[in-house]
Amino acid sequence: MTTFPTFPAGTILGYPRIGPRRELKKAVEAFWAGSVTADELEATAVALRRSTRERLVRLGLGRDDSSIPESFSYYDQVLDALCTVGAVPARFANLQGGDGRIDLAGYFTLARGAGDHPPLEMTKWFDSNYHYLVPEIGPETAFSLASDRLVREFAEAKAAGFLTRPVIVGPVTFLLLSKPSDEAPTGFSPLERLEDLVPVYAALLQRLRAAGAEWVQLDEPALVSESIDIPRADALAAVHSAYTTLGALADRPAIFVAAPYGSLDDALPVLAATAVEAIGLDLVRGTVPTVTAGLETTTLVAGVIDGHNIWRGDLERAFETVAGLACLSPRVTVSTSTSLLHLPHDVNDESALSAELTSWLAFADQKVTQVATLARGLSEGRVAIAVELAAASAALDARRVAPGVHDGAVRVRTDALTATDFSRGDYAARVAAQKATLGLPFLPTTTIGSFPQTGDIRRARAHFLTGSLSAGDYRDLMRAEIARVVTLQEEIGLDVLVHGEPERNDMVQYFAENLDGFAVTENGWVQSYGSRCVRPSILWGDVSRPQPITVEWSAYTQGLTLKPVKGMLTGPVTILAWSFVRDDQPLGETARQVALALRDEIADLERAGIRIVQVDEPALRELLPLKKKDQADYLDWSVGSFRLATAGAAEATQIHTHLCYSEFGVVIDAIRNLDADVTSIEAARSRMEVVGDIQTSGFDHGIGPGVWDIHSPRVPSVAELTDLLERAARAIPSGQIWVNPDCGLKTRGYAETVESLQNMLAATHAVRTRL
Ligand code: GLN
Ligand code: ZN
Repeated sequence: MTTFPTFPAGTILGYPRIGPRRELKKAVEAFWAGSVTADELEATAVALRRSTRERLVRLGLGRDDSSIPESFSYYDQVLDALCTVGAVPARFANLQGGDGRIDLAGYFTLARGAGDHPPLEMTKWFDSNYHYLVPEIGPETAFSLASDRLVREFAEAKAAGFLTRPVIVGPVTFLLLSKPSDEAPTGFSPLERLEDLVPVYAALLQRLRAAGAEWVQLDEPALVSESIDIPRADALAAVHSAYTTLGALADRPAIFVAAPYGSLDDALPVLAATAVEAIGLDLVRGTVPTVTAGLETTTLVAGVIDGHNIWRGDLERAFETVAGLACLSPRVTVSTSTSLLHLPHDVNDESALSAELTSWLAFADQKVTQVATLARGLSEGRVAIAVELAAASAALDARRVAPGVHDGAVRVRTDALTATDFSRGDYAARVAAQKATLGLPFLPTTTIGSFPQTGDIRRARAHFLTGSLSAGDYRDLMRAEIARVVTLQEEIGLDVLVHGEPERNDMVQYFAENLDGFAVTENGWVQSYGSRCVRPSILWGDVSRPQPITVEWSAYTQGLTLKPVKGMLTGPVTILAWSFVRDDQPLGETARQVALALRDEIADLERAGIRIVQVDEPALRELLPLKKKDQADYLDWSVGSFRLATAGAAEATQIHTHLCYSEFGVVIDAIRNLDADVTSIEAARSRMEVVGDIQTSGFDHGIGPGVWDIHSPRVPSVAELTDLLERAARAIPSGQIWVNPDCGLKTRGYAETVESLQNMLAATHAVRTRL
């Protein structure tokens, strides 16, 4: 039997790829724009990988013990795996060379589409804000080792004096995350192709071994999720089969299977019974397993440092957890719970955060140091790291009692809440009251909130932030923009108007900047997908609203028109989902605080004459826990916080909400329980498929299934829009139906916006006369 080198004492599952100053984003976008060549882009990537390895060594990982993960990606790790195994969908076959290979331009075409080739679908990566590209697998998919990029990157590191650990999405997760290809017969499951896929992984492992790799990391997060539509027994059988085959391979590196984002549960004994040398457990989201046969010969990689959040956390407790695992396996090492992909690079890049807040935080680089500290403690004993443990505990103690973390007035309010605060009362009475005050036509038309964020708007905001534009001048420019958007909507003939959201940089950050309890970063960028990065705010303390936020803008807008103007707020769940949230109290408690701030805002909007308020919750589905046992509690507090935010509204005030997706099924009851008067959802891409779910669910409030897919610059024709509306009207009582686009228009240009909205109105008129 081969003996393998020992697994490093401390490691991370992956590191941010985008670069401390978003170097990769800039280079990739320049390549797309044609201003840098593929060679120049590759040179940037090489430099970035080099500086990452050097940085990780400086932060305490080993140079030559496989502790540095080789986790770079130009766009997405699932797309990388797809290219590695040659699983290019038939519609992109022209991009492949004779050997199945695909060049850099082809790689990006898969991600972004070209001409009339739609790109791969993109969807959320477990319960994070990262989005991956969905492979399409069918009986026709021809697997082959079509890319040696992983081997080349390992060799590149080796040549520079680093023995790193190549990382790739594992075969089971790859197939579990795939969808059936267009060519696949109904009922086909990508997992049926496991036996054809595993040999390609085997070939890759042998190539890596030949290049000198001692350890490889196969990421299998799909094993922790219960939200994947495959019988669990099939997934477990796949784990057994894949890792028994790979384990039996001659001339391979040692195999480390990582399972971030939750507990492996029943997959752990299956994996432990195979010949893999190391298993990574997420001990932040997941729980410590019980004694499991097979683990005594396996290295346990304890993911105790949170890769998913920015807190410095309880290092002492993390150390104890690791130490406590000795009863499960004689060989325990330390790691992050997930890849650090979800975190910004470095707290020290933030000069505007208070020293106090900074001392409570750990971004990716600080997490690496924490891992290195715990690893040292494991090998040299606790005393060797006593100073570091004490410092982390002191920061945690200071955080507990810091002003703002607990705000007495906020607590008094949340403690006093009763059931009536969460209930708006009889729907029929609301409908009657709203009918009387709003006077809306049959099939009312509206938009989701934002209008195109033009270059002028962005420049004005940039100048305002640097001080070269005064607050007064900035306000005047935004007001002029609002007036323009109001006139445009009146000309088009929309029934419920919006102000267009020109003053908002981002639908969450805007509120974070205007609420107490939040901080915003300067360089805290995190990859959302491809080259797109977001900068989540930090929700660190009790949340309250020092003064009205949107009222002045909405009141100004309402003063310009006789038509009702919708006030526009972001809901509590979405504010939490798209921020880094405090980890020292249940999310539901934090959500209630945000909800009360929004409730006050709605009351102020009503006083200012606003009769319709939309509370956006596009992230409601996104935060749904991966484990079924956690879902009821989540739905309870998330729906509750929306109700708390909106239940103070008068009967005559019409509450709207907007959700950005069409997978209605799992959350339909939750959406009904939101008890919004009107709900707008995405529906155009699926050609109104979702109205079937709405019909069978008996949903009886106002519903606006989006008719225009705003994710594409394409202008839908009147005929097409009419057809979609008629489809909706065949399934749902037409008195419930609202007419609107799929989502906000901020990423669209004016040309297609005006034309599409005109067509939407023309279609509405046509359907109104026919019904
Ligand atoms: N009101 C927001 C907008 O129109 C909603 C955006 C969203 O759902 N993501 O931009
Ligand atoms: Zn949306």
